Amino acid sequence: MQFKDIVGQRVLANRLTEIIDSGRISHAQMFLGPTASGSLAMAIAYAQYVNCTNRQHYGEGSELRADSCGECPNCKKYQQLMHTDLHLVFPNATTPSVKSDHVCADEFQEEFREFLTDGHQMGTEDQWYAHLNVENKQGMIRERDAANIVRALSLKSYEGGYKVVIIWLAERMNPSAANELLKTLEEPSENTLMILVVESKDKMLSTIISRVQQVVVPDLGVGISDEKRIQFAQLFVSWTRLLFKLKMHTLSAWVDQTAGLGRETQKQFLQYSLQAVRACFLKTAANIMLPGELEWGDEKFNASFPAMVTVRNVEQMNNAINDALYAIERNANPKITFMQLSFTLSKLIKNR
Ligand SMILES: [Zn+2]
Repeated sequence: MQFKDIVGQRVLANRLTEIIDSGRISHAQMFLGPTASGSLAMAIAYAQYVNCTNRQHYGEGSELRADSCGECPNCKKYQQLMHTDLHLVFPNATTPSVKSDHVCADEFQEEFREFLTDGHQMGTEDQWYAHLNVENKQGMIRERDAANIVRALSLKSYEGGYKVVIIWLAERMNPSAANELLKTLEEPSENTLMILVVESKDKMLSTIISRVQQVVVPDLGVGISDEKRIQFAQLFVSWTRLLFKLKMHTLSAWVDQTAGLGRETQKQFLQYSLQAVRACFLKTAANIMLPGELEWGDEKFNASFPAMVTVRNVEQMNNAINDALYAIERNANPKITFMQLSFTLSKLIKNR
């Protein structure tokens, strides 16, 4: 997993690679954010960057300041989630073939890899249980998982780099698993990295929280009221329709309307647009349903618009919206910003 594959989290990716490059890698971290915002993908990309032997640095003005190479032996194994020093732990449950006497995440590694490589890097807990065919059960991370983590981190690194444990939905640890991990969090062995990917901090033991460095993975949709969401949905639909057929007078009316919204609302609308582009791409690339809050109350549009975002234009669309967000944050003229963005997106949609 490379940072470039994760749509909508450039700002955080840049902060993380900067910290890693400066050598300040904290051995225990908590990536906090909704699963659908790419928190697990960010954790994997982070670990891959840490272990990459040929980190790539891009010049000034690039959206992404750096990324793993994707080519070195470590990256190749990370891309397939098959690196011997990468240990993935996640909520699990008994199945017809895995009984309670040995149920643990290690029994489901193949299924989990399948799940993640099958377009679910931003998958939710429910989607994971559906993949495992255990929809009616609540998964858990047990003492047996914690013991496996402790063992994995105490072994010598196979490949000479960092040994990494990523615990997806660490809030699903039961109390005995959490307690078992406390000592490892407190006295880590050398060159180990533990990342707890957490959606809801309230369910975590405070003794764990106090031992990890927190990294907030932004939810691009957070903080928008239902009323605003409806307003943004209408604005987005009318905008993207205009982008198909660029008619200057109708577009400039839309730009005037948007420029009159106030800077905070403009920023929220751009974040909403980033999220919409990402959701459309997941729909096109992996046939993952649009989340309910990103349906546009217009069936024809729901059915047709996602196909406009493809593997050929998703990254540039994302960059263009991010640039506009950056400009608005720095008090650029909103009319010019939204007009330029409209031209860029229109071109990208046409060249999909
Ligand atoms: Zn590499």
